[in-house]
Amino acid sequence: MNDIILLKLGEIVLKGLNRRSFEQKLMGNVRRRLLGLGKFKLSIMQSTIYVEPADDSADMDAAFEALQDVFGIIKMTRAAACEKDKDAIARLAIDYLRDDMERARSFKVESKRSDKAFPMTSIQLSQYVGGELAEAYPDCAVDVHEPELTVHIEVRDAAAYVHAAPVDGAGGMPIGSNGTAVTLLSGGIDSPVSSYMIARRGVHLIPVHFFSFPYTSQQAKEKVIELGNILTRYCGRMTLEVVPFTHIQEEIRDKCPEEYFTLIMRRFMMRIAQGIARDCKAAAIVTGENLGQVASQTMEAMASTQAVLDLPVLQPLIGMDKEEIVRMARKIGTFDTSILPYEDCCTVFTPRHPRTRPKLAEVEKAESVLDIETLVAEALRGRERIELRHE
Ligand code: ATP
Ligand code: MG
Repeated sequence: MNDIILLKLGEIVLKGLNRRSFEQKLMGNVRRRLLGLGKFKLSIMQSTIYVEPADDSADMDAAFEALQDVFGIIKMTRAAACEKDKDAIARLAIDYLRDDMERARSFKVESKRSDKAFPMTSIQLSQYVGGELAEAYPDCAVDVHEPELTVHIEVRDAAAYVHAAPVDGAGGMPIGSNGTAVTLLSGGIDSPVSSYMIARRGVHLIPVHFFSFPYTSQQAKEKVIELGNILTRYCGRMTLEVVPFTHIQEEIRDKCPEEYFTLIMRRFMMRIAQGIARDCKAAAIVTGENLGQVASQTMEAMASTQAVLDLPVLQPLIGMDKEEIVRMARKIGTFDTSILPYEDCCTVFTPRHPRTRPKLAEVEKAESVLDIETLVAEALRGRERIELRHE
């Protein structure tokens, strides 16, 4: 049987002039996601990508699952193709949908024709195929109002397709269609989710992790690598930048007033992230900050953190509840890794009484004893790059 996967493009069809390049990005991302799953033939027509097996090596089940992670696809279905003839279509529907028809108690047929030369109207075709299906499966009744199963028929230029209900794709826009950003990736629950959300808008990500060995362990770093690897399912290829942060944290601990530790540390993170963004031509910095969650996430604290930046900070979780973030972390598969118990550098030198409503001038004064430029340059020089990969 001529099994095929249909991928319906999401928002990118609205992009007018850029549409071509968006489609090419998406095709490239789909192709990369299928690597290792066999040989496939891809084509694109009428806002739909067609994925066909090129030979017996193509694992269509694995492909269907893998493609559910690709941004830019709004709906996807597995379908079977046949020639554009009403009897061929009916025969195919009877054969291909056997399991669905035997399971459901009621059904209807919905047809669409983009090939206007086809000799029947959509309604006539639905009625004809519906009649044939009803005859073949007498236990499944026709119900045009609330059927358990909707059988879809599409008559397109190349062929006719039969399929049951589509499933949701990952949505969003194709990675690479909306620029590059640096994302701050801790080992926590939040930052993998914030990374996912910005990637879903089509942004290629450069994950950055601040590492305070030996205050944070080798396992803490492994955990971040693992989170990054999981994210490649959605984000495509990424290079993790691990920044040595120990010296900076020790300097802050030794020379600055305790109540400002976290704020000064976060200002260093931002300066370094901006340095990496400059190197990589990234246009924004992504964090998992969430209003009011901790002392450094009040509006005043975020203002003093962001004051060192020229680039915008994207905080997609800012208004979400913890529960919603956790639900999303579970959905994208990062939660179980995030809750492994290794320390993050943020919790190493936590002040007993952090300032929650800091004044910028106070923070600047508190950090002025440090040689900021030298420390930032040293951290940028010492960074380690790790290729993340999807296993
Ligand atoms: P998360 O669950 O993502 O760790 P959090 O609620 O623990 O977030 P913070 O620890 O205050 O919040 O950190 C806020 C944001 O700063 C994180 O979401 C992340 O984007 C960034 N961040 C914190 N620690 C690190 C780190 N060690 N390396 C890189 N980014 C970090
Ligand atoms: Mg954290």
